[in-house]
Amino acid sequence: MGFVDQVVSALTSVLPDEEPIHLHAPVFEGKEWDYVRECLDTGWVSSVGRFVDEFERRLAEYTGVAHAVAVVNGTSALHVSLILAGVQRGDEVLVPALTFVATANAVAYVGAMPHFVDSEENTLGVDPEKLLDYLKEIVTLKNGEAVNRFTGRRIKAVVPVHTFGHPVDMDPLLEVAARFGLSVVEDAAESLGSLYKDRHTGSFGQIGVLSFNGNKIVTTGGGGAILTNDREIARRAKHLTTTAKQSHPWAFFHNETGFNYRMPNINAALGCAQLEQLDVFIERKRRLAGRYAEAFARVKGAKVFQEQPFARSNYWLNALILEPNYAQSRDAILQATHERGIMTRPAWTLMPKLPMYQHCPRMDLRVAEALEARIVNLPSSADLLIELPGGDSHAT
Ligand SMILES: *Cc1c(COP(=O)(O)O)cnc(C)c1O
Repeated sequence: MGFVDQVVSALTSVLPDEEPIHLHAPVFEGKEWDYVRECLDTGWVSSVGRFVDEFERRLAEYTGVAHAVAVVNGTSALHVSLILAGVQRGDEVLVPALTFVATANAVAYVGAMPHFVDSEENTLGVDPEKLLDYLKEIVTLKNGEAVNRFTGRRIKAVVPVHTFGHPVDMDPLLEVAARFGLSVVEDAAESLGSLYKDRHTGSFGQIGVLSFNGNKIVTTGGGGAILTNDREIARRAKHLTTTAKQSHPWAFFHNETGFNYRMPNINAALGCAQLEQLDVFIERKRRLAGRYAEAFARVKGAKVFQEQPFARSNYWLNALILEPNYAQSRDAILQATHERGIMTRPAWTLMPKLPMYQHCPRMDLRVAEALEARIVNLPSSADLLIELPGGDSHAT
């Protein structure tokens, strides 16, 4: 059997026999209807209501941070987080080349410049060692601030992305950030529930960002959150995302240019119901990842990405990694799977290849470039396995 057929056959050995199999469909098996109905019955669907406060409280408790602020989506959470991390117009912000476009866009919204960094093969995230060597080369420290010797711009922050749910190696990255005076804004949009050394991703940086888009591990339709242990940052996040209105029974006074980024109550209601199922979703996804790993153990030329010993991943989106000399089969795999109704997907096009970011500074990106050509994301919905014989009773 040829390589592409082996891949398809490994996939069909795991997946239920139905069409289509979505890449990632939301699952509503909990109290979604009850909570959303409560919003409609009481009329509290919009900017005020009990579910927003409740959702924020539960998010903070779950992830172990002091404060969570719910917002309209992950992109707006990134935007405001960069502002609160002190990023200013004309600064540079270190961002992985291999990420979803929102990470780079948020930097551009602030008038700052994304500066693209390479990934490491065993986390798919920022390579802290390579970054350290690079910064040693290009940075001059001035009063504790990093200045890019080649562009003259300040490098203010780094945004590690926990790709497909897999934690970045945070300890060495935090050391690099401390050494160069960089703020750390964690893009944990894909990694809610993933742990790095027993602590939640999103809780390591000054600020962490979550997304509850329809394809994420839990969804509010659209939504996001800002996580922080810093009381003042949390207060500012709430203020800036609610039009910077000063609290008053009837007066409308806004003391700066804020944003209308607050999460509506009806979305938070959905979020509360989803959070109640998060641990079950993670368990099922980890089991699905295990099944994929078994099925592909027999396929030479491709392996399913596995978490590092320091990580406990939520396995949000499974990734098949082709060996370098099998990368030329990627498009044939995408084609063959789609023909069978199995919705696979390639990695994102690297940020510096997009027209609006082509001119941005970057380090050597050979690992990200290689990974871009070798990744095939596999169907990963949280209800895929319950269709299978064994169901949830075999959960490990
Ligand atoms: C989904 C996602 C975002 C943006 O979240 P939205 O809620 O879609 O705005 C940001 N970064 C990464 C890595 C994501 O996957």
